[in-house]
Amino acid sequence: MEMLVNPALRSPLTRQQMVAAFGSTLQFDRELASLTTFGTGGPARYFLQALSETELADAVVNATRHGIPFFLLGGGSNVLVSDSGFDGLIIKVAIGGMNRIDGDTIECGAGERLTDLVGFATDQSLSGLEFAAGIPGSVGGAVCGNAGAYGSEIGSIISRVVLCDSKGEIKTVDSSYCQFSYRHSCMKETGETVLRVQLELKSGSREAIDGKVQEILAERRGKHPINQPSAGSFFKNIPDQSEEHGKLPAGRLLEKIGAKGMTVGGAKVFEKHANIIINAGGATSKNISDLADIIKEKVSKQFGIKLEEEIIRIGRF
Ligand SMILES: Cc1cc2nc3c(=O)[nH]c(=O)nc-3n(C[C@H](O)[C@H](O)[C@H](O)COP(=O)(O)OP(=O)(O)OC[C@H]3O[C@@H](n4cnc5c(N)ncnc54)[C@H](O)[C@@H]3O)c2cc1C
Repeated sequence: MEMLVNPALRSPLTRQQMVAAFGSTLQFDRELASLTTFGTGGPARYFLQALSETELADAVVNATRHGIPFFLLGGGSNVLVSDSGFDGLIIKVAIGGMNRIDGDTIECGAGERLTDLVGFATDQSLSGLEFAAGIPGSVGGAVCGNAGAYGSEIGSIISRVVLCDSKGEIKTVDSSYCQFSYRHSCMKETGETVLRVQLELKSGSREAIDGKVQEILAERRGKHPINQPSAGSFFKNIPDQSEEHGKLPAGRLLEKIGAKGMTVGGAKVFEKHANIIINAGGATSKNISDLADIIKEKVSKQFGIKLEEEIIRIGRF
């Protein structure tokens, strides 16, 4: 989450003061495009990778103390970075660790890849995460945005979350604290960092779990862009109880307005799925943003529905 602190508190530090405050691993003007699945966008003024809970808490405390806006980055698979970059600190959450701790519970660091967690659960013959097969990004990003597919969401199998607030205080909360709903958790508003999570799964047959995972991966290969950069669905589906899973797919409306194949510069609406914008080659974030605005406007005019973005924008657009 981007934490915009009171600008009055902002006191630009010199390079030396920044290194003194954040440590020698702090990077300046770090390019971000390669850290996102869209592969677009400008640099971060400051960049830090947090490998441990302490490093993460220190970075958050220092950023808050010095009035430096910061943004937590996981796998970069649900973000669009402005071409002018981010004038603040990007904290890449890289906290690892995956263990079966007790019965059917797995504890996992926020920086682990969600797909690795699915693999670990499969190897442990634990069922409940199969729906997440093929969803890119980190476990922390998935929990923050309550990632889901095929009618299931990660929030429904989370029992505990270890969080860090903007004062660097670390607390353990249960899943009700997170207020999980469609592509949402309270961490999107509070800006708290997910450090670690516990997931409650169910013992099952490894063969059956792996079979489901492979089935989902095959299905995703058929409708998601595999070799072309994207951030998955650009817009959220629309609540509608008369539809499957209680949602009217945004892609259906986008298909009806003829979005598939539309382009702006190097940005293109994916031919197989109208709710996915791809970087078809050389796209800028502005190309992607402009294309999203055009198709959103067409949906609004034709259906009177204002599509809400699922992707998170970083920096100024
Ligand atoms: C090909 C493709 C297919 C996809 N399919 C799906 C799908 O089926 N279902 C789905 O839900 N999504 C899907 N996505 C979108 C994306 O993969 C998910 O939203 C994913 O969970 C984002 O995780 P991330 O680590 O990449 O988050 P990022 O993109 O890095 O960040 C997203 C948000 O999470 C916040 N965040 C990241 N880490 C933390 C943390 N540790 N603590 C607190 N906040 C944090 C960021 O500040 C930001 O606001 C798809 C994306 C692609 C490219």
